[in-house]
Amino acid sequence: MKAQVLSAWDGRLSLAVLPRPQIQENEVLVAVRACGVGLTVLNYMRGQLGRPEVFPRVPGHEIAGVVEAVGSGVTAVRPGDRVIVFFYLTCGWCEECRAGRDSRCKHHRGYVGVHRDGGYAEFVALPEANVLPLPDGIPFADATAIPDAIATPYHVCATRARVEAGDRMVVVGAGGGVGIHMMQMGRLFGARVVAVDVDEAKLARCRELGAAHAVHFRAPDAAAQARAALGGGATVAVDLVGSDQTLGWTFDLLGRGGRMITLTTFEDTGLRLAPRRMVFDELEVLGSRYCSRAEVLAAARLVRDGRIVPVVSRTVPLAQVEELHAMLRKGTLLGRGAVTFGS
Ligand SMILES: [Zn+2]
Repeated sequence: MKAQVLSAWDGRLSLAVLPRPQIQENEVLVAVRACGVGLTVLNYMRGQLGRPEVFPRVPGHEIAGVVEAVGSGVTAVRPGDRVIVFFYLTCGWCEECRAGRDSRCKHHRGYVGVHRDGGYAEFVALPEANVLPLPDGIPFADATAIPDAIATPYHVCATRARVEAGDRMVVVGAGGGVGIHMMQMGRLFGARVVAVDVDEAKLARCRELGAAHAVHFRAPDAAAQARAALGGGATVAVDLVGSDQTLGWTFDLLGRGGRMITLTTFEDTGLRLAPRRMVFDELEVLGSRYCSRAEVLAAARLVRDGRIVPVVSRTVPLAQVEELHAMLRKGTLLGRGAVTFGS
């Protein structure tokens, strides 16, 4: 089968021909129809998601496809099923997993596309527990946005920030793969949403998708614009960029009862908190990590019902994946990209 593989921590992929993966007793072989392309893949390729020295490695975790074959111990998945894929490799039996908090698994075994081969290939073998049903009617390219780019915002809005009608929400990095769906999710949960990004085309799309206002981060009055459009300080402020600059800016924008949510992390960044403001305004600063399997299923239902629009702005064949990586590095890819296989 054809695959894009990483052979060193140099951020470069090469097209290779590999044997079709063999499945174990509790595994499923998926014929990949589409695989999402986002910044997480680039972070992996630079060794920032752990460094399992298993080369060549096939990256890609936002997989949508059709089950080709199942191992002898597989019970719930059948050949021909349309599926999407859960990103984390979890144990399934620790108290966090059993409480439905999959991303906090105490025996976290890594990630699809990092600690085992992923979806930048015609076929991928996965544990049965990582394969979730894809509702009928959702095209495969759109489906690649569900298990991370849409389910992650669902976890933020439903579980971490507890967004509700009347919330004033700002999304920093709103034109990216997670951001463009975070913005939509915030609206769906009842918030007034202001989008913040640095690319005019992305800001225009945010307006089309219902942002009350879209602010260029580098505008000298960006914070004042955001405040005016929100009608006050933010009650929910989501930073998807994770730089020292955006973290501080986002914290400063919080109003009374504000919850700041941070998702994108780098080892050398920090946030200086102001305890007096935190006390006087009862602020909360929260981390949010991926999502649960149940939240992936909820995200899929929202797409099936037309309540969240997957924004997969560009698809390419596997051989041209580097075009999408180049756009990601330049910050010009609106929403998500995807590689697609046949039809
Ligand atoms: Zn667990």
